[in-house]
Amino acid sequence: MSSNIKVQRICLYCEEEFTARTTKTKYCSHKCNSRHYKAKTKNIKIDNSNKETINKVLFPIEQLKAKEFLTVKDVATLLNSSTRTVYRLIEQGEIKAVNIAERKTLVKRTDLDSLFT
Ligand SMILES: [Zn+2]
Repeated sequence: MSSNIKVQRICLYCEEEFTARTTKTKYCSHKCNSRHYKAKTKNIKIDNSNKETINKVLFPIEQLKAKEFLTVKDVATLLNSSTRTVYRLIEQGEIKAVNIAERKTLVKRTDLDSLFT
């Protein structure tokens, strides 16, 4: 048995008024429904991406702790010093580093611990 109720509702997506057959209808059309759904999923993706960026900006140390091999820039961040200082420490043999390519120096994170022991 189909109901004959008619309710005026506002579409969640286009915000146009429409006549719905149930009080639960949220959209004026299937188009608006799927468009709103798409927009929502897109927003979630953007949200997650933003969160990731915030994490990288606010908790760089936490991110670096998870890495086994660090770049000179990473080491500088961890040691709260400049890359110049890090290069000097490497030259002085204070930090063990591997030059895997030109301008690509890697430091094993655990090797940094020996700096402080
Ligand atoms: Zn609509």
